[in-house]
Amino acid sequence: MSKLIVGNWKLNPESASEAEALASAVDRRGTVVCPPFLYLATLKKALKRAKLGSQDAFWLNSGAYTGEVSPSQLKSLGVKYVIVGHSERRRFLLESDEMINRKVEAVLHLKLNAILCIGEDLETHGRGGGAALAYIKEQLRRDLDNIDVKYLKNLIVAYEPVWAISTFQTGLRDTPENAQKTIEQIKDFLAKRYRLSQSVVLYGGSVNAANASGYLSQASIDGVLVGAASLKPNEFNKIGI
Ligand code: PEP
Repeated sequence: MSKLIVGNWKLNPESASEAEALASAVDRRGTVVCPPFLYLATLKKALKRAKLGSQDAFWLNSGAYTGEVSPSQLKSLGVKYVIVGHSERRRFLLESDEMINRKVEAVLHLKLNAILCIGEDLETHGRGGGAALAYIKEQLRRDLDNIDVKYLKNLIVAYEPVWAISTFQTGLRDTPENAQKTIEQIKDFLAKRYRLSQSVVLYGGSVNAANASGYLSQASIDGVLVGAASLKPNEFNKIGI
């Protein structure tokens, strides 16, 4: 199976014309591009090969929810993948596992691919002795709570240790071997608890052109979720090649 490369543009770029130019420069098969909501319609026109993704979705499809964007609106725009539960939303927008659970369910019910982000923080990581794995399993239990297993075939999990995100300056990142081990354990958990024998799990955390092949060559890592490097065509276009 070819590996999936997902670009998360976060709160970038500044204008629709820059978004259009960036989309054309990174447009290739096997990738998903997730711009801010504002540029989805622009990218729908600009992308010929890459699939369109969004960085979030609300948990209901309509109603009095000012400022929200629904899974059904995203679907009608041509979005195929929705990132849910990114650690920046958990941290800065105080998204709880309960909210994330509702979002994952709403996305999966529309047969969109949900990219559920999970991962331990630095403090938990530092505790060692299985603390990180226990934390991740608890996130999965809560975020997938009561979702009928028949919907889970469109679930993609992104293992993103929070302490390794946006750490290009410090160089703090998980090793490919360690990420492989954790992802193996995530897959094992998904198989046992949800009977998902073929789950798709990505790695994310300061992936760039120089280190991507280390992660992508690991047997259990099905792809990468890329933040900062997805804004640089000369970096992003080398990932997975
Ligand atoms: C992300 O946005 O999910 C991410 C992993 O960011 P970065 O690659 O910049 O660490």
